[in-house]
Amino acid sequence: MKQSTLSTDFIKPRYSAIPLQAKTAPHTYLDNRVTKSQRESRRTRSQTARERVRTKEHLERLANELHEVELADKLRRCHSRLSVLTCGWHIAQIIPNFTCEFRLCPDCGRRRSRKLQNKYLPMMRAFLRHHHVTPVHLVLTQTHKKETRKQSAKRIKDAFTKLQRRSFWKDYFKGGTWSLEFTKDKNGLHHTHFHIIGFRRKFFDIELLRGEWLAVTGDSHVLNLKPILDIASGLREVVKYVSKPLDIRRFGAEDLREFLGLKNMRMFGTFGEFRDFCADFDPSDNDDEVSELERIDRDLTEGCACPKCAAPLFDLRLSKDELLRFYEGIESSPPDQVRTRWN
Ligand SMILES: [Zn+2]
Ligand SMILES: [Zn+2]
Repeated sequence: MKQSTLSTDFIKPRYSAIPLQAKTAPHTYLDNRVTKSQRESRRTRSQTARERVRTKEHLERLANELHEVELADKLRRCHSRLSVLTCGWHIAQIIPNFTCEFRLCPDCGRRRSRKLQNKYLPMMRAFLRHHHVTPVHLVLTQTHKKETRKQSAKRIKDAFTKLQRRSFWKDYFKGGTWSLEFTKDKNGLHHTHFHIIGFRRKFFDIELLRGEWLAVTGDSHVLNLKPILDIASGLREVVKYVSKPLDIRRFGAEDLREFLGLKNMRMFGTFGEFRDFCADFDPSDNDDEVSELERIDRDLTEGCACPKCAAPLFDLRLSKDELLRFYEGIESSPPDQVRTRWN
């Protein structure tokens, strides 16, 4: 009889490396990004967890190369042992022994992006209720130049500041959030983008915005705008770049050195009337806006009912490698078998 359990049985990983994104011409970049994120969403949980482990190992190697001993040690310890609350089939909560809080750490980044979602989703919902605006996802890009990451970020931030002062922008946008994403092109030049959730007052011709962006940058007109149909998923998509500001697996030691120099650079922010709205927002007046994310995040303990299937939860102490095998076990076993094994 085929026995597929979760404990010491080693389940052969079926992971295979995801090929690097194909090199593309700049004008097709945005379309490829959509395809890439769709591909990512089809990956299993064990595959994405394994990616995170490998990314961290890669970062740890680079930190060692730079003799950043403390950083390397933190990365090694971060999420290395976990307390997993599970029904044997679903994972209700994972509590790590230690978190490094390093900006490029994919585990810490996920937590940070979850926190941002919890914080801003209720405010966005309330804002949308109070104002006649349409949320849109706007991506602003700039030309690639020979410059440092810091210069590249400053250039696009300055351009956005100028854009916000223009009457076009004020007429059509009532504020929103921004986040930064860094990539490099095939020639190693920085390609920094701005991802904006903008609250649009009224419809406008995209060519007008293109002209405005060209006017403030002097040489950039590539942008992309799409309406956000569901604000929760729109926000999730944008904060993704906060948790994953760049393609770290292509990172070399010099990239890490440069990134460490950015230390206090802000990667996410609010602007316009939405910024003022956030400053005055009182969550206790807006109980109905509390997001479902927060409800999932509430404290669960052993013996509580699993939020997905109501079976009792129990606590497992796992190393990061055991967690990967646990995910694989869940993915490859029928539910009954898993529950029998663990109940
Ligand atoms: Zn971490
Ligand atoms: Zn369950």
